[in-house]
Amino acid sequence: MRRDFWKKNGLAVTGILCLLIAWQGRAMETVTGQESVVPEQQEARKVALTFDDGPSQHTQEVLDILKKYNAKATFFVTGEKKEYEYLIKEEYKQGHAIGIHTFSHDYGKIYSSPEAYFKDIEKMNDVIEKQIGHKVKILRFPGGSSNTVSRKYCDGIMTQLTKDVLDKGYQYYDWNASNGDGNSNLSVSTLVDTGQKEVGEQEVVMVLMHDGAGSEETVKALPSLLEYYQKQGYEFRIIDDSTPEFHHHVNN
Ligand code: ZN
Repeated sequence: MRRDFWKKNGLAVTGILCLLIAWQGRAMETVTGQESVVPEQQEARKVALTFDDGPSQHTQEVLDILKKYNAKATFFVTGEKKEYEYLIKEEYKQGHAIGIHTFSHDYGKIYSSPEAYFKDIEKMNDVIEKQIGHKVKILRFPGGSSNTVSRKYCDGIMTQLTKDVLDKGYQYYDWNASNGDGNSNLSVSTLVDTGQKEVGEQEVVMVLMHDGAGSEETVKALPSLLEYYQKQGYEFRIIDDSTPEFHHHVNN
């Protein structure tokens, strides 16, 4: 059902009612007998801002900007920068969601075998638990579930992992828009432009951004993007149990 809701954005229209309730937190007041009518035009646009690769020296600034705009986001965290580990707790305390991105973010390591992948993400979950008091069940694959670079290390591993994580009770999230900051050396104005264009007219959006080392431009572009999304009528949502998954096509 969750996936169906995302399909509404271009693939199929099903399961709207359930997700309307889940994501708007609205009771089905209009239910009478077996019929229910929820006027679709009342549905607010929703955007899940997601930040990968942190925490880093840029994360505090990201948090300050989000606070200023009263925007909540989801951080898919890594563990390589121990000196910024405490920021995971800070993110959580400020109402943001925490997900696993992997501890090492080392493609050669994590995508060498399912065992290596799970060892790495469990290590990250231990770090998260130390910071926020419990483990988490949401994750994002480095490179997304659609990445092909993993083929270099293990043929078919994404096909295996996308199944295994679900079997183990995790949910994974890809994205359907980005500010383009995965490409280095993009100017602030290009990031703003990309972050606007990729969101487009979609009603439900998951935006990929980064707060790892080298995210200076992302930080500078963030206020303009937040203002734009607000102006376009988007509500900021964190990823939680009610969030529809958005899965890319698996290519390895
Ligand atoms: Zn990453």
